[in-house]
Amino acid sequence: EAKRDPGTSYRFYDRQLHISAGYQLRLEADLRNALRGNELELYYQPRIDLASNDVRGVECLLRWNHPERGLVGPDEFIPVAERSGLIVPIGYWVIEQACKRLQESAELGFPGLVFAVNLSFRQFHDRKMTETIFRIIFNANVDTSLLELELTESAMMHDPEYAQRCLRELNQLGISFALDDFGTGFSSLSNLQHLPISLVKIDKSFVQALGESADAEHIIRAIISLAHSLQISVVAEGVETESQLEFLRQQHCDEIQGYFYARPMPWADLVQFLNKRGESACLQL
Ligand code: C2E
Ligand code: MG
Ligand code: MG
Ligand code: MG
Repeated sequence: EAKRDPGTSYRFYDRQLHISAGYQLRLEADLRNALRGNELELYYQPRIDLASNDVRGVECLLRWNHPERGLVGPDEFIPVAERSGLIVPIGYWVIEQACKRLQESAELGFPGLVFAVNLSFRQFHDRKMTETIFRIIFNANVDTSLLELELTESAMMHDPEYAQRCLRELNQLGISFALDDFGTGFSSLSNLQHLPISLVKIDKSFVQALGESADAEHIIRAIISLAHSLQISVVAEGVETESQLEFLRQQHCDEIQGYFYARPMPWADLVQFLNKRGESACLQL
């Protein structure tokens, strides 16, 4: 049909592009208001230590309570935030909020819980990053050894010297680093060995391919053994089934995160979740 009537087809595509650009602009304008209007919220997903069965920590995951659209996930708005630069103030808000919760968690009787925060490419390359993070943690007065920042390989490898300097500076303050979504750029773990990374998170695509692809098994085995040989711990993301869990346990994966144990949840639900786990642990003793 497009061949028979190129004019119509052109208008069709043009209109699509227009809608899409308009949609992006609208989302961007809305996002600007979201930060001011208290529409952003952190959800928390527990990470379970396989040796002790304890909740080691939580990953802080951003959600947007949009007044008309309802709950919007980060895959939809983080790219818009990245392109517009809004990710920088939003990202600092996330760290501030995480520090607040970290403080609160100790008061609620969960000391030692690690809070992991995602840092995007653009935020990591903000010239005021280390200084701003320093100010936030100083004002919040938190135990920095419980704060972990998650970065992807591409964010770290874009400018390795810059990454090395920033990671070392923040690491000296007590902050630790995790390499997120690991596995897709597998060859470069050796490039990262001089960076202060204490944790690698295996991308959920590998975990979810377990049982269907022998390659996934091999890759996971190789990541765990390479990471362990560099004294780096391993978290598997996206664990949804018992058989995935059993495989990871056999491979001595350190921690897991996934729907099998818990979904990301609002703060009040996390507190309830931790209280329940605490009670059942007491009952077992
Ligand atoms: P990520 O950092 O790799 O986070 C893990 C994602 O996997 C989360 O998606 C989580 O909800 C999801 N997940 C966890 N367990 C399972 C499971 O068992 N099955 C499946 N199918 N998914 C699972 P979410 O919350 O939609 O976040 C998507 C991505 O958005 C994150 O990926 C992260 O890259 C980014 N993001 C989230 N919050 C922030 C933030 O505060 N700042 C920045 N810069 N990026 C963020
Ligand atoms: Mg992450
Ligand atoms: Mg990830
Ligand atoms: Mg991801």
